[in-house]
Order: sequence, then C-alpha cells, then structure tokens
Amino acid sequence: MQLPAPAYREYDFILAGGGMAGLSFAYYLSQSSLSSRRILIIDRGIRNEQTFCYWNSEASEFDFLAEKSWDSLYFHSARPSSLKIAIEPYSYRKINGNAWFSFIEAELGKHPNIHFLAAEIESIAYQGLGSCVRTSEGTFYASEKIIDSFSPFPCDNANPKHLKQHFLGWVVECNFNNFETDAAHLFDFRVAFGKECEFMYVLPTSPRKALFEYTFFSGTLREPDYYRDKIKSYLFAYYGLTDDDYLLKEEESGVIPMRNNPNKPENLYQKHLKIGTTGGFVKSTTGYSFYRTQKFCRDLVAGLANGPSSSLVIPVKPWKIWLDEVFLQVLIDQKIAGSKVFETLFYNNKPALLLKFLQEETSWKEDLRLMWSVPTFPFVRAALKTIYRSIIN
Ligand SMILES: Cc1cc2nc3c(=O)[nH]c(=O)nc-3n(C[C@H](O)[C@H](O)[C@H](O)COP(=O)(O)OP(=O)(O)OC[C@H]3O[C@@H](n4cnc5c(N)ncnc54)[C@H](O)[C@@H]3O)c2cc1C
Repeated sequence: MQLPAPAYREYDFILAGGGMAGLSFAYYLSQSSLSSRRILIIDRGIRNEQTFCYWNSEASEFDFLAEKSWDSLYFHSARPSSLKIAIEPYSYRKINGNAWFSFIEAELGKHPNIHFLAAEIESIAYQGLGSCVRTSEGTFYASEKIIDSFSPFPCDNANPKHLKQHFLGWVVECNFNNFETDAAHLFDFRVAFGKECEFMYVLPTSPRKALFEYTFFSGTLREPDYYRDKIKSYLFAYYGLTDDDYLLKEEESGVIPMRNNPNKPENLYQKHLKIGTTGGFVKSTTGYSFYRTQKFCRDLVAGLANGPSSSLVIPVKPWKIWLDEVFLQVLIDQKIAGSKVFETLFYNNKPALLLKFLQEETSWKEDLRLMWSVPTFPFVRAALKTIYRSIIN
C-alpha cells in the first residue's frame, strides 16, 4: 500500500486489518468530519485475487467501478430447466477487487494523516484509558477506537455442521466469441447430483471473457483440484471448450462463513469494535458482504462523527435472524436437495422479491409470502429444531 509509514505510536483510530472492511471503514472516515484524525491501518499486506459482486436498486458509492452489470439473471435448475429472469428494479454488479483496492488506496493517499503499517497483528489489549494493538513491529495506541477486521470469525472449517460458502473460480478468456453477456448465471444446478447445495456461478463480462466459480453452500470443504476439475468439465459440457480454447487469466478461491454472528451485539461506546467478516457483516444465507459492509461502515462512521452514542454496530433483527437460522438448518439437514430449495424459491416467487428478501429489505408480510412458497416438511422440521435449540440454550 502506498500510504506513509507510521510516524507516531499513538493514533485516534487504528484499523487492525486492512482488507475490504478495514479499508471501507477508513474510506468513510476520510470522507467524514473525522477525516483530520490520526488514522493507522495495520495489515500483513498479502492480497489475493478477489471479486466484489452485489445487487442494488438505488445508485451506491462504488457502482462506477463495476466492470459489468446485469439486469437479468439465469437460474438453471437440476431438472434441468432454465429461467431467465429480469430483476428490475435491481441490477447485479461485478467489481474487480484490484480496481476497488486501487481506488480506495488512491483516495486514502490524499490524506497525509492516514498511515499504513505492514505487520503481523499479535493482539489487542486495553491500556489505561485507551487501547493498543501489539504487532510484530511494536505496540501502537488508540485514544478513540480500534476497528478490528482481522480476528477470526467463529466458524470451524473442519466442522460439517458449520455451513460455509466454499468455492474456487477461474476467469477464462477464449480466443473467439463464446459467451452471451446479457445475463449472469447466478445458480446453475445442472451440476448438482447429491443433496449438498452445489452449483456453478458464471459471470460473462465480455463475449470472450467470463468468471466460472464452482460453489458449495455446505459444511465439507474439498481439495482445490476438485473445484478445478468441475470447472473444466463444465466448460467442455456447456461451452464445448477444451484446454486449448482458453487462457486461464485469474484464479480466486474462498471459504466464507454462513453462520449468524454468535457474539453479543456491540455498540459504539466500546473501544474495540469488530467489523467485516469477524463482526458478522456477512449475510449468513448468501455469503455476500460487500454491499452490507459499505452500508454498515457508512452508518458506523456517521454514528462516530455524531459523538458518543450507544448505537449498535449492526442492527439486531431477531425475526430476520430466525429466518436465516431456519434456512441454514434446511441446508445442513439435507432432507431436501439444496438445488430443490432454491428451485422452489425461484420458481414460486418474483425474483426481485427474493433479492429484496436476501438484502433484508422485505416487510414481514413479504417474508411470510416467501415462507409459504417453500417445501413444508423440511422447513417446519428445521424451524422446530431452531426453536428447540434456543430453548435448551
Ligand atoms: C475470493 C472471494 C470472493 C468474494 N466475492 C464476494 C462477492 O462477490 N460479493 C460479496 O459480497 N462478498 C464476496 N466475498 C466475501 C467478502 O466480501 C470478502 O471475504 C471480504 O474480503 C471480507 O472483508 P473483511 O475485511 O472482513 O476480510 P478481509 O478482506 O479478508 O480482510 C481481513 C484482513 O486482515 C488481515 N489480517 C488477518 N490476520 C492478520 C494478522 N494476524 N496480522 C495482520 N493482518 C491480518 C488480512 O491480511 C486481510 O487483509 C468474497 C470473498 C472471497 C475470498
């Protein structure tokens, strides 16, 4: 990162973790009335290929960085049958991670009071009236807040009951036109044969270039070659492409927790605030967090700029959390194939309503309408399980 190295030991705000959430927070700070405060970003500084996709119905901060956006999506069921759906008033957008990071770093670079330290973070501790971050390069003190996006989120990759979105994706470029670019393929369940929720996700950004991501919503991770073989087979089966027909331009992979945040709600009085994945910003039923992180970080900075307050870091919505719990339980139980769950949702509802629901923008009446459309037995069973669990806990 091209920001100045630390010039002090004491800062107003220290961002422990400078990935997507840490830099988003720094960006909103730099745009606020707190922009002249001393700000230090600490990160080990290793960055992998990454894509940030989201859908929105109103213009938002980083739309202008989108490499491509789509007003229609494909849903391919396991039957197989396909739906091409217009998602108006939403658009689905893809931002290239490198473009986003370059833009943010250039913006932060305009502020000489924002510094960057490449270091390994060891711990966060309270010290007198402030708090400090211990790193491989020494200890740094924060008089206002430590914004933590580096701590791990409690999700065990080895535990099959902890649902994860795990995936590996290839950006491939053909030497001839081969992709229709007018719609993104959000779910292609033609590849799913078991009850685990697995699908291909395809984003054609140009007639020659597309991202193919083999994805699971499940508890059991695979070796990288497993996903790669699936992508190769898919390219051949659905696009007739063999190894000689395309160049592999990028590879990205990830494991994103699909769990509701088990930590107690945090508020702005705290010295140490968790944001991003560790702060529970990921929407548990989709694994998406970019759009939510922008909203939460913007709101948090506005809250801090207004002075001391007990506002929560993330609003607690028990009803929405319970709906997520039930949905996740259905995917864990696998009493019904994951592909079937999504098929009933997409075939029985207006797609825009689904996207609204996943963005947590639906009313309770709309939630009930959606719940009515899903297969009764697995959902009632999962609902009873979650109720029982909350009683015994
Ligand atoms: C490949 C990939 C694609 C994704 N695509 C999408 C998408 O399309 N849409 C969407 O909404 N979400 C997507 N996500 C999910 C989510 O947006 C990302 O995971 C996002 O990066 C989360 O931001 P974060 O700041 O919480 O975590 P990170 O970006 O991982 O940031 C954490 C930072 O902490 C640093 N760090 C950790 N430990 C230490 C330590 N001990 N010392 C120093 N530094 C440390 C890391 O270097 C990292 O920079 C994707 C995730 C991945 C991995």
